[in-house]
Amino acid sequence: MGVAVSPFQIDSRVADFIDKPRKMLIDGKWVNAASGKTFPTYNPATGEVLAQIAEGDRADIDAAVKAARKAFDSGPWSRMTPSERGKLIWKLADLLDEHVEELATLETLDNGKALTIARAADVPLAADMFRYMAGWATKLEGTTIPISVPYTPGAQYLAYTLREPVGVIGQIIPWNFPLLMAAWKLGPALASGCTVVLKPAEQTPLSALRLGELILEAGFPDGVVNIVPGYGETAGAALAAHDAVDKVAFTGSTEVGKLIVHAATGNLKKVSLELGGKSPNVVFKDSDLDTAIAGSASAIFFNHGQCCCAGSRLYVERPVFDRVVDGVAAQAKKIKVGSGLEPETSMGPLVSEEQLQRVCNYLEIGMAEGAKAVSGGKKLGNKGYFVEPTVLVNTKESMKVVQEEIFGPVVAAIPFDDVEELMPRANDTVYGLAAGIWTKDISKAHKVAAGLRAGTVWINCYNIFDAALPFGGYKQSGWGREMGKDVLELYTQTKAVCTRL
Ligand code: ADP
Repeated sequence: MGVAVSPFQIDSRVADFIDKPRKMLIDGKWVNAASGKTFPTYNPATGEVLAQIAEGDRADIDAAVKAARKAFDSGPWSRMTPSERGKLIWKLADLLDEHVEELATLETLDNGKALTIARAADVPLAADMFRYMAGWATKLEGTTIPISVPYTPGAQYLAYTLREPVGVIGQIIPWNFPLLMAAWKLGPALASGCTVVLKPAEQTPLSALRLGELILEAGFPDGVVNIVPGYGETAGAALAAHDAVDKVAFTGSTEVGKLIVHAATGNLKKVSLELGGKSPNVVFKDSDLDTAIAGSASAIFFNHGQCCCAGSRLYVERPVFDRVVDGVAAQAKKIKVGSGLEPETSMGPLVSEEQLQRVCNYLEIGMAEGAKAVSGGKKLGNKGYFVEPTVLVNTKESMKVVQEEIFGPVVAAIPFDDVEELMPRANDTVYGLAAGIWTKDISKAHKVAAGLRAGTVWINCYNIFDAALPFGGYKQSGWGREMGKDVLELYTQTKAVCTRL
C-alpha cells in the first residue's frame, strides 16, 4: 500500500473548465457573486488549489430564490405539461451519459474518489435517477374519494385530490457524492414541478456547476434550477432561513440537520433531512464467509467510508470473529490507495484536510480508549489527504469510535454471541440509516431485518442503491425518504377539492 499521486492527465474540456473562475447559475445566466468574492476548491490528492468559484452569500441566495419564485409562480415551468417536463429531465439524463468521462473526471479531481468508481457508479447512477424521475412527471395523480358527510343528509358530493408541487425548494447537499446527491435532489423536485435553488458543498462544487451547464443545454427554462455555491454558514444558512422558500431538503451531518430545522421555523417551510449514520453490519457464522468478508470490507471502504450508510460497526458472531476480522483486514491491506486519476487506485484521498484531521483524531481517541488496529490506523504519505483503511478490534459500544460517525475508512469490529443480545446492541446508537446482515438462514435474516431500527437493510449485500428504492433514516438519521416513489411525497402536497352536486 503506497500513495501514488500522479500529475494531472485530464482531457482539455476538464482543464478548460477548471482553468476559469466558475460563476453561479441564477435565472438562466452565469453570474459572479454580488460581493465579487471567490473561494478555492482543492484537489484532495495534492492539497493544491484546483479552481476558483464564485462565493455565494445572502444576496446571491436572495436573487436565486427570486428567480425560482418567478419561474414557479408565473414562469413557463408551472405552465408546462408534465410530459414536457418529463422530456427535459430525460434529456438531461442523456446529456449526463454523453459526458460521463468529463463529469467523472471533475468528480475525481474535486472529491478525490477513484475515477474508475466515479465513471462506473456516480455518473451512471445520477443519469439513472433523472431517467427514473422523468417517468414520474406524468404519473403524479390524485384520487376520487367517496364521502358521506353525516351532518348533510341527502347531499351528494364529488370529492377528489390534486397532487401539487410544494413550490420553491432550497436544496443543500454534501461532498461525498457531489453529482449523485444533486441528482437525488433535483430529479424529484423537477418531476413534481417545483423550482430549485441548489447549494453544493463548498468542498466539491465543480460537478454541480457543470451539471448547471447541461441543464441549460437541455433547455430548462430560466430560473427553474439555480445553483449557488458557497459556504454552509453563509449561503446554506441563508437558503434554509429564506422566507420565500417553501421547503428545504438537506443531506449532510446530523449536527447541521438540526440547524436547518431551527432555520426553517421562520416561515415553517417543509423540511426533509438525510443525515448521518453508524450502521451495523452483522455477520452470522452460517453466512458464506468469503462473500461476507468481501462485502463487509466494501461496506466500510467504498467511497473511503465517506458514506452516511457505511457499515462502520462490524458485528461478527464469536466463533467466526477472528476469521472475518482477519479477512476484512487482509482486504484492507490490499486496497490500492492513491490519486483517484491513477487507473489502479481503488481508494483515493479523503475530501479535505479537515476530514483527514477528523478521521485521524478519531483513530487517536480510539487507540487511547483501548482499540487496536489490525490494519491501517494512521495517515498515509505527506502530500494530500490520505488515510490507511483501518480495522479496529478491542472495541466496545461505550467507545466514541463505535458511537460516533467517523465518515472515513475505519470499521470497529465487535463480537456477539446470539441474536437476542445482538439486537439491542446493534440498535444502540442515535442513528438508524442502514444495516447489513450476512447469513444463509433466510428466516433469521428477515427476523433480524424486522428488528433493526434502520431505513435500509441489506441482506447478503451492501451499498446497493437504485433510483426506485427508497433511502432514508430512522431516529436521528433523518426525516423523509430519498428516491423511489416515496420521495415524491416530499415535493408534492395534496389539495382536497369537494363539490356539492
Ligand atoms: P460535513 O460536516 O460532512 O461537511 P455538513 O453537514 O457540514 O457536512 O455539510 C453538508 C452541507 O451543508 C454542505 O453543503 C454545507 O455547506 C452545508 N452547511 C453547513 N453548515 C450549514 C448551515 N449552518 N446551514 C446550512 N447549510 C450548512
